[in-house]
Amino acid sequence: MFGRSKKSWPSSSQDAKRHEGPFGSCCKSMHDALTHPPNSLFRIDEDMGVLYLSVGYVETQDGPGWFDQAVVFCPFCGSLLQTAEQVQRAADRSH
Ligand SMILES: [Zn+2]
Repeated sequence: MFGRSKKSWPSSSQDAKRHEGPFGSCCKSMHDALTHPPNSLFRIDEDMGVLYLSVGYVETQDGPGWFDQAVVFCPFCGSLLQTAEQVQRAADRSH
């Protein structure tokens, strides 16, 4: 992957092959990230079918408040896991 320019990355969801199958089935690294750490920072919203990654947290009186971002590409193998449109649709549905 060294030297891969940003331009070669798929510029839109149409350019990338969508990974079919449940989250964590695209590669071993993602599978391990979802199943091995006791407090994984990846979170699957089963109702919405969206995969999130916690990017930070803030301490509150009620405990930590988490900042989650939807994952579009697998950070390990680069597979397209979900599109921004899907995430947006899921967010719209949940309101
Ligand atoms: Zn992967």
